[in-house]
Amino acid sequence: MENILYLVIPCYNEEAVLPETAARLHKKMGDLVRQGKIDKKSRIIFVNDGSEDRTWELICGLHQKDKVFGGINLSRNRGHQNALLAGLMTVKEYADMVISMDADLQDDINAMDAMVEKYLNGTDIVYGVRSSRERDSFFKKATAEGFYKAMNAMGANTVFNHADYRLMSRRALEGLSQYGEVNLFLRGIVPMIGYSTDVVYYERGERFAGESKYPLGKMLSFAVEGITSLSTKPIRMITGLGFFIFIVSIGMLIYSLVRHFTGATIVGWTTLMVSVWAIGGLILLSLGVVGEYIGKIYLETKARPRFIMEQFLNDEENDEEERNGW
Ligand code: UDP
Ligand code: MG
Repeated sequence: MENILYLVIPCYNEEAVLPETAARLHKKMGDLVRQGKIDKKSRIIFVNDGSEDRTWELICGLHQKDKVFGGINLSRNRGHQNALLAGLMTVKEYADMVISMDADLQDDINAMDAMVEKYLNGTDIVYGVRSSRERDSFFKKATAEGFYKAMNAMGANTVFNHADYRLMSRRALEGLSQYGEVNLFLRGIVPMIGYSTDVVYYERGERFAGESKYPLGKMLSFAVEGITSLSTKPIRMITGLGFFIFIVSIGMLIYSLVRHFTGATIVGWTTLMVSVWAIGGLILLSLGVVGEYIGKIYLETKARPRFIMEQFLNDEENDEEERNGW
């Protein structure tokens, strides 16, 4: 069996970090090649997710100088998950295993050794899990951990503190390719694939240049996407709430009838106002949640493409000696 490893790295406006990332990854992968753990045909593929800066020019430059670098240019910005999927689905034809990671190297690249080791011992999916978030700001840590907890409480089962730093074997990727949904939430789908899985712990560092592309707003919408694309629990919660309010209203009915027949009915303006607002709010909220799912159904029935590739640069063959290599 050959052990060709492809790295897939989504990049959105990452010109500030790209040269450094490329250099460090080149060194890391080169070490793995020299240790005989991975094949010489291993490659590093950057996915340009419609960046507005010079990211794609940088990727083309890397590819021209050194054949170990490749690139995928998407036709426009489609977001992290789609960019990642585009990379995974494109390289799965060439690789035996694929590791996905972020461009900012917040995920410790030294964890790759353990991931590859586990793959060589027959594991199909290896999750990179953050053992500590000491270097994240308190706010980022609290929101991010709240995110995982909320997801699980809402019925979207994900691996705690695992982002998209993971190794997948070719057959796991084949499995993933059979999930045709447009509303794709990789962290929730990958655990559904099955096969043997394992975990590698690492410390999460700081983004060393550039800014986070996931501000709070994006993270919240990411959580809503994740929950509504994986579970129908929120709809069931609404049903439960509706049922509870119905029971309460029967109580209210009996109460007001009693008050009516005992002749004391003028009081109650406050209660009336409060309940009108509260019930109105709940109805709107519930409609919103239901609408969220209908929106999802709408998009799924259209079955639009999840990404469109404009260009793919890759040298799968190993014979072009003049363009460097490991
Ligand atoms: N990213 C992307 N498309 C987007 C937003 C982000 O491909 O629309 C990439 C980004 O370049 C990075 C990764 O997704 O490689 C994670 O983003 P970031 O590091 O900004 O998120 P954080 O680590 O702050 O959660
Ligand atoms: Mg980051």
